[in-house]
Amino acid sequence: MNWKHGLMLLPLLAAAYMVGCGQTANEPTQTTQEAAHTESSESNTHTHDGWWCVEHGVPEEQCGQCSAKLAAEFQKKGDWCKEHDRPESQCFICHPELATKFTALYEAKYGEQPPKPTE
Ligand SMILES: [Zn+2]
Ligand SMILES: [Zn+2]
Repeated sequence: MNWKHGLMLLPLLAAAYMVGCGQTANEPTQTTQEAAHTESSESNTHTHDGWWCVEHGVPEEQCGQCSAKLAAEFQKKGDWCKEHDRPESQCFICHPELATKFTALYEAKYGEQPPKPTE
């Protein structure tokens, strides 16, 4: 009674053969779609509009650490922490409580906490 077995196996063999065929047809379908990603230029991802200096936790226009011109003005006023090379009024190392004054500005503008300073 082997013919019964044979009949039952035939479709299975056929299926296996077809699957095998499909797999061997290994077309290089993975075309390089990375070109689409390069479109989004990420220059100002860390701030909403560049107003806030994430690095130093103050508005950019007041950042005595980013602007040499502002730094000179702060120094002229005597508002300068020589130890940390930044305006005394922006030295959160000497005056951690001052940071809240600036973060409050950010919160007033955007209604959320500013991003954590990177240093
Ligand atoms: Zn800065
Ligand atoms: Zn200081």
